[in-house]
Amino acid sequence: MIKLRLALLFLVNCFALSAFCQIYISNVTIVDVVNQKLIPAQTVEINNGIISNIQSSGKIKIPAGTTVIDGKGKYLMPGLTDAHVHFFQSGGLYTRPDAIDLRKYHPYQEEIDWVHNHMEDFLRRYVKSGITSVIDVGSNFHFLQQRDSFENKAYAPEIFMTGPLLTSYEPTVFKNLKNEEPFLLVKTPEDGIKGVQSELPYHPDFIKIWYIVSPNKDSVETSAKEFQPVVKAIIAEAHKHHLKVAVHATQRITARLAVESGCDYLVHGVEDEIVSGDFIKLLKSKNVIDCPTLIVEDGYFKTFGQNMNYSPYDVAISNPQQLASIQDLKHLPDSALAGSYKKRFNMPVVVNRLAHEDSVRMVNLKKMIDGGITIVAGTDAGNIGTQHASSLFDELKAMKQSGLSNWQIIQSATINPTKILDKQESMGSVAVGKKADLVLLNANPVENLDNITDIHLVINKGKLIDPGKIVK
Ligand SMILES: [Zn+2]
Repeated sequence: MIKLRLALLFLVNCFALSAFCQIYISNVTIVDVVNQKLIPAQTVEINNGIISNIQSSGKIKIPAGTTVIDGKGKYLMPGLTDAHVHFFQSGGLYTRPDAIDLRKYHPYQEEIDWVHNHMEDFLRRYVKSGITSVIDVGSNFHFLQQRDSFENKAYAPEIFMTGPLLTSYEPTVFKNLKNEEPFLLVKTPEDGIKGVQSELPYHPDFIKIWYIVSPNKDSVETSAKEFQPVVKAIIAEAHKHHLKVAVHATQRITARLAVESGCDYLVHGVEDEIVSGDFIKLLKSKNVIDCPTLIVEDGYFKTFGQNMNYSPYDVAISNPQQLASIQDLKHLPDSALAGSYKKRFNMPVVVNRLAHEDSVRMVNLKKMIDGGITIVAGTDAGNIGTQHASSLFDELKAMKQSGLSNWQIIQSATINPTKILDKQESMGSVAVGKKADLVLLNANPVENLDNITDIHLVINKGKLIDPGKIVK
């Protein structure tokens, strides 16, 4: 009884995020994401936030009075990563006035204030759903400062973040927002170099380029080539400062030119055509990582067409205010605006275009993974209709529909994203010496991906997190 009380006391201390914690997870099945195998009956020792020992159960002597989690019948996997999110966006209806301008009902300044005030809420929801790392591939200087305040917080995932997107195109509604502006317009190679340098004082984890060119099929090639010198200059300058470069390039031509210019990470799949074997060889030879982002466009289309139906999981995990805002289109005072969006996004030509792009993205994903490209799971969360935290599970299901195996999908959300920023030695698998960012599941995720949401507890930064209590 005393032993139990002591153990409980330590458990309470660990939950209370004390500075130091020794934890044992006994008799658990480890999900070995590197070798694609399950290792049963293991005991895992965690010391001061690091996995310090793993042995067959019985071989590790557990000292009296330490916290022991009974892992019998459970599965221990590395915490998940969403490799493509944006904290400057809420996931709600008012977050992209360049896509639908509702600022007269909800001033953009209110949206900005809301996302800053709710960054902690989003972070808690990520950890609640087993996501212990996030990569923000487009934010601003204010968010880079805010990122630093979450560094040692056990309720927050590891946050890797860039500053404003260095871009060939700047949406008017985002102009003159100073340190809240997510875009930095660069027209010449010199602008590009200055853009990189302007981010350095804020210590971004990497640099991001928005490679936006003419959507017109006849001029896309010329327009992409015109901007390539700027892309090259940005990449060279970033690499000089040991920063990796992520690029938004959704056409075959921009993706190819970005890769030829030396980029490290493509944050979307190619959606305008089926990629060739040569394209895949090029990516492979340059070790470029790709994030397919399969669901984000659907989020916009379903919201604007008023066809959005969230799953019970979305409802359980997402911020309820932003989830609810998606339905606001049905109740706007300006019913003509809402009606015109609804009409347009239900037109067969528009619906078919989305279906075509979806299928191209899925075919390309399967070709890329079969061709040996490192694929990472990322949602573009924060965009309209793509909710922070819960959307990762929707993305994993879409990857499954593309024909990936459960092991490939689990790797894409655990060990693979660590390779984007060269963190594979310290994160992304259940191994001695790695950070104790872990998820203890009640059932086998390899057998059924749905089991990824059946979380018993999360260990984040070496601290025990009760997923039922982490969101305030
Ligand atoms: Zn994005």
